[in-house]
Parts: sequence; C-alpha cells; structure tokens
Amino acid sequence: MIELEGLHKHFGSLHVLKGIDLKVGSGEKLVVIGPSGSGKSTLIRCMNLLEKPSSGKVTVDGVEITAHKAPIAKIRQSVAMVFQQFNLYPHKTVLENLTLAPTLIKKIPKDEAEESGLAFLDRVGLKQKADAYPSQLSGGQQQRVAIARALNMRPKIMLFDEPTSALDPEMIQEVLDVMVDLAHEGITMVVVTHEMGFARQVADRVVFMDDGQILEQGTPEHFFANPTHERTKQFLSRII
Ligand code: ADP
Ligand code: MG
Repeated sequence: MIELEGLHKHFGSLHVLKGIDLKVGSGEKLVVIGPSGSGKSTLIRCMNLLEKPSSGKVTVDGVEITAHKAPIAKIRQSVAMVFQQFNLYPHKTVLENLTLAPTLIKKIPKDEAEESGLAFLDRVGLKQKADAYPSQLSGGQQQRVAIARALNMRPKIMLFDEPTSALDPEMIQEVLDVMVDLAHEGITMVVVTHEMGFARQVADRVVFMDDGQILEQGTPEHFFANPTHERTKQFLSRII
C-alpha cells in the first residue's frame, strides 16, 4: 500500500532522512518509534507529501506520488492524517469539521456527508457533540473528532503522528480505544507513538528509527523481547 525507496530528506544543511526503504502492506498496522528528532514525523509526512523528499521514491496504492505530475490531490484523499495537535477548524462546528473536506474535495452531497459524519461521530462516542465547537471539547474529545473527520474521507490509509502526546494522561486511553477499534478493520495504519501498550496490542510490525535511519524492526513480540542494537535497548529502557 505504501512503498518508500531510498528516501532522503534535507532541511537546508540538516540531513533528516538518510536512505529509508520501507514497505507497508495493505491492512498492515505499522508502529514507528524512536527518539525525538530522529525523523519520525518527517517520515510519515513524506507518505502523503506534506513533506517533499529530497530524493527517493514514494509509491502509494500503486501510484508513484513523487513522480513528475503525479495526481497528488487524488492520492491525498485516500491518505488521512491525524496530528498531535488535532488541527480542527476552530470556527466550524464538530459536524462541519467532518463534512468540509468530503463536500469540497470529494464533491459528496452535503446530506450524505452529514449522515456518514454523524455515524462516525457515534462510533467515536461523540454524536451528541455534533453542534459543539472544538474549544468546547476536551483534548481527548477533540482528538476523537479529528479521527472521525479523517474517517469521513473514507481513506485507505490512516497516518497518526503522536496522536496522544498532547493529551492529559486521563484522556489518552479514550483515544487509544478508538484507534484499537479502528485497527480491527482492514484499514492500513501507520502510527508514530510512544504508547508501547498500543504497539503490543495492535502492531503487526514495529519500526525503530534513529538519526534518520531505520535501525531495526520486527513483530512486537520479537522486537520488545530481543532488541539487537544498543540504541534500541537504551530507548526501550527509557520508555517502558
Ligand atoms: P521526530 O518526529 O522524530 O521528533 P522530526 O521528523 O520532527 O523528528 O524532525 C527531525 C529533524 O528535522 C529535527 O532535527 C527537526 O528539528 C528537523 N526538522 C523537522 N521539520 C523541519 C522543518 N520544517 N525545517 C527545518 N528542520 C526541520
Ligand atoms: Mg515528531
């Protein structure tokens, strides 16, 4: 579903991704971990071209999105992203947040987008908040709205960049519960997170990034029990 080949990214003189090769299968749940500044956000932002790689290839659902004149807008519709800071539109209601992109970008009729939007809000336990504004919600609720908003685009791929890192501890679980629920479906998920319980529970594979490279990877069972690199062991000993 996603293939990265020889991916490099520079920000000026800073070499942030140093030759990443990675394939994510259809329906796979991939968890990316690693120290702050190791390039995790840059990596997943390259998967929908929120960041443009300096070199290398990104292929999504069979389309090379780094190719000249690639249909990027179309591919973006099938790759949804959930951010650490929720990024809801503050002056739109919850339901408007869910219907804006489907109606404007996918040209879905408003009543249809509202109907499916309400169903997704129900699924994340927030149907009763449809007419509220984001500022009237807790952080955990805002993040669940952001997930419902992503789902209302009917993506094939969901990218999560530390979706619980900005939340108060008591709100983390409600967001993780929604993500676990999602993971039981066929959707492809790439999740940057430090929630190792989540990784153990849902990941098909865990990838450890360090200094712009993938240092090691494996199934959670194998990865957590037998980290081979010293850097991985150090990192795990700090966060588990
Ligand atoms: P992580 O998500 O693992 O913490 P990032 O991908 O956010 O790492 O960042 C990797 C490195 O790239 C960091 O040194 C960061 O400061 C730098 N970086 C990220 N985005 C930009 C940007 N837009 N401009 C310049 N430097 C950036
Ligand atoms: Mg990051």
